[in-house]
Amino acid sequence: MSMHDQTDFTRRRFLASVTGGLAVGRMALAATATRSADEPFFLTRGVVITEEDLTLADWPERAVAAGLTTIGLHAPKSPRLLARYIQSDAGQKLLETCRRLGLDVEYELHAMQDLLPRELFDKAPELFRMDDKGARVREWNLCVHSEQAMQTVAENAVDLAKTLRPTTGRYFYWGDDGCPWCRCRQCAGLSDSDQSLLVANRILDAIRKVDAKAQVAYLAYDNTLPPPKQIKPKSGVFLEYAPIHRRYDVPFERADDLKTRQQFEMLDANLDVFGRENAQVLEYWLDVSLFSKWKKPAVKVPFDPKVLAADLDTYGRRGIRHVTTFAVYIDADYVSRHGEPPLKDYGEQLRRWRRQPGRG
Ligand SMILES: [Zn+2]
Repeated sequence: MSMHDQTDFTRRRFLASVTGGLAVGRMALAATATRSADEPFFLTRGVVITEEDLTLADWPERAVAAGLTTIGLHAPKSPRLLARYIQSDAGQKLLETCRRLGLDVEYELHAMQDLLPRELFDKAPELFRMDDKGARVREWNLCVHSEQAMQTVAENAVDLAKTLRPTTGRYFYWGDDGCPWCRCRQCAGLSDSDQSLLVANRILDAIRKVDAKAQVAYLAYDNTLPPPKQIKPKSGVFLEYAPIHRRYDVPFERADDLKTRQQFEMLDANLDVFGRENAQVLEYWLDVSLFSKWKKPAVKVPFDPKVLAADLDTYGRRGIRHVTTFAVYIDADYVSRHGEPPLKDYGEQLRRWRRQPGRG
């Protein structure tokens, strides 16, 4: 509770007592105050995993036991395949379990390959990306100056949302993983970040027609890590910041290697453009797939609670209240090889973190 809230609460309580306010009203106020004081600073405390990781059948129960709020299901390549899983009995059972446990479900999708179906290329190559050599190519993303391509992407995003409907109203339709955007004459003046934001803005407009409170992520990551310069985010587009190229053996803020510094500098640069209020961090503290260089067998996650604690200070001090980490490759095989993953430590630190006066 901030000082302002406290003063306000005291004044309201005083007024209630002098006017003979109902005890019930005072109790309600006290309950509100208690709740807000107890409420963890980080509103989203999540993990992002894939369908394959669900060989660890009690993932939802483990997430809840660790004090987490959210499971994000990640489609590294094809959201359509993830949608098929969600429609299956196993997928429906997973959603039902999450509902029962009060766990939110989100979908974090490298989506453009599916949102603009690649088979359209043969009939309408102008919808597709132009490469550096001036050729339209079937692979990756789209031409953001093709109205038909943008329309197709927006319609398919809405269609996909019928199956992959996040319980939080927060939608994640990313560009294809680290892949370049269009270099046609009209697009060439826009960076990959600008092009990616144009698509996020367009998807927001479309999704809001079916989900009035929807928010759509702009993913700051790899080639879209630098903030967009020419396109402005519409209200409802929020920053999702994923510093994949940083080090994890030292606190983010203290690492002095060039690569990590470059990732770190882009955090404030992006917050300046997108604001902090709804910003989300997608981290890699528990991302066994990253530490295994995306090859099984999985290594044991080199989790350092002190690095996490320092990193939470870095993010929390900036007013970021939504924090998730990839936890890909934490599956049944991982647990039998390496024992329990440090989920509880992760969840506990997230749940307990509070903003200290004077720390920003
Ligand atoms: Zn283009």
